[in-house]
Amino acid sequence: MVDFNNHYQMTIDGRLATSSQTYPAYNPATRTEIATVPDASKEQLDQCVRSARTAFQGWSRSTIAERAKVLNTMAKAIQENAERFMALLTKEQGKPRAGAEWEILGSAIWCREIAKQSLPDEIVQDDPERTVVTRFTPLGVVGGIVPWNFPVFLAIWKIAPALMTGNCIVIKPSPFTPLCTLKLGELCKDLVPPGVLNIISGGDDLGKWMTTHPGIDKIAFTGNTETGKHVMRSAAGNLKRLTLELGGNDPAIVLPDVDPEAVAPQLFWAAFQNNAQFCNATKRLYVHEDIYDEMMGSLVRYARTVKVGDGSEADTQLGPIQNQPQYNKVVEYFEDCQKNGYRFAVGGTIDRAAPGWFVPVTLVDNPPEDSRVMVEEPFGPILPVAKWRDELDVIARANNTRFGLGASVWGNDLEAVQRIGRQLQAGTVWLNEIHQYSAYQAFGGHKESGLGCENSLHGLMEYTNWHTITLNKKAHYGRTEAAVQTPVSA
Ligand code: NAD
Repeated sequence: MVDFNNHYQMTIDGRLATSSQTYPAYNPATRTEIATVPDASKEQLDQCVRSARTAFQGWSRSTIAERAKVLNTMAKAIQENAERFMALLTKEQGKPRAGAEWEILGSAIWCREIAKQSLPDEIVQDDPERTVVTRFTPLGVVGGIVPWNFPVFLAIWKIAPALMTGNCIVIKPSPFTPLCTLKLGELCKDLVPPGVLNIISGGDDLGKWMTTHPGIDKIAFTGNTETGKHVMRSAAGNLKRLTLELGGNDPAIVLPDVDPEAVAPQLFWAAFQNNAQFCNATKRLYVHEDIYDEMMGSLVRYARTVKVGDGSEADTQLGPIQNQPQYNKVVEYFEDCQKNGYRFAVGGTIDRAAPGWFVPVTLVDNPPEDSRVMVEEPFGPILPVAKWRDELDVIARANNTRFGLGASVWGNDLEAVQRIGRQLQAGTVWLNEIHQYSAYQAFGGHKESGLGCENSLHGLMEYTNWHTITLNKKAHYGRTEAAVQTPVSA
């Protein structure tokens, strides 16, 4: 049983470890310091990698059943500690109970569902002449780098497939949300062979050291697009394999045949779930001009019912912005809208004296297509709502972005909904629903939203090398009878 006390340690080579350097962790709802976190040294990263490389000798030879058993044990342990994880997640990340529950129970589900997936050998040819088999063998040591919006879930999205395919992993949480991940390491310490799962905390520099480390074979990274580009450059040293899950600017297109009042709650949560600190949040809402005013009215009325506050209070639906730099960034979008005279349909005024990094739910009324709030990724609760008239035009506007993570279409004319959906350039397009994920569904970004994917057999494959073995069954290189009987002359 792990003690969820206020003492946080890393897990290196199956042992708990502190560090000579530390940094503080804050509760974003109160801006108060809540814990002291180890700041790993380069030597401690080396130790993780050495231990993972040693563990790989045994773990890569383990059977699928043995790996699945470990993941199922992890799922059980997460579930048994769910209440304590949820409370800690709310405290460090800011998300209210419902969001914390989705993330923690979702992490247990993911362990179980990934444990059911494996990559059998592919028999390419099997006839009297030749057998050709492609196997999917583990890469070695994976470095998992995680952001602060879904710290536990996105760590599990890397740990589960890495372990299931026979790799060992070193996980680095965001410096802003390390606490649950460190407790996860402590919890799994005796469930996983030493060195197979190492959890190490530190700042962005630790991430850089991981991406250049010659002992790491793959980086599984989730974070900002600009950081993703740095990762790609640094990973070139030893041609590390890469999965990059990056930023998004997801459009949602609303057709004129919907009832605004009926769809408003769905659209609201599409944009504001996790306080809009969500890669897949709707970040541009295109509403047909025939229903635009009515839709805006419904959204505003709904927004006014939603309680923003400290996630630890029972009736809170949206928490604070997770950290100070992100708060500063979100404030810039408010200021940019004000400076340019865009109208706020609701929200818009930030109470800077609030105890935490709070920003009000804000809808921007039809800002220009090239405004910052439309083009960039605010990653905070400020949503631009725009009008459209022509179908081809709105598809072109939705696709006119360097991002391509997700998109959604909402309407009663299912033919139109599907026709539009098929033309949207994004890794996941949701039709009349949003944020439905599954461990069996490939998830990844087009364009600058990423490289490769997570989840499903496609995601598992990203943790493997293709290992093609060919056997020529006709060849015979043994000695002939005559050759065996003829003595070698001196
Ligand atoms: P970030 O890029 O600032 O940080 C992510 C992680 O990278 C952190 O652990 C950080 O310490 C580390 N890091 C920072 N600089 C690094 C470097 N040079 N080399 C290696 N590692 C480095 O991102 P964030 O602010 O924590 O997260 C928000 C971003 O993540 C948003 O853009 C969001 O859209 C994106 N995101 C994407 C997905 C997805 O699946 N596509 C999911 C969640 C979040």
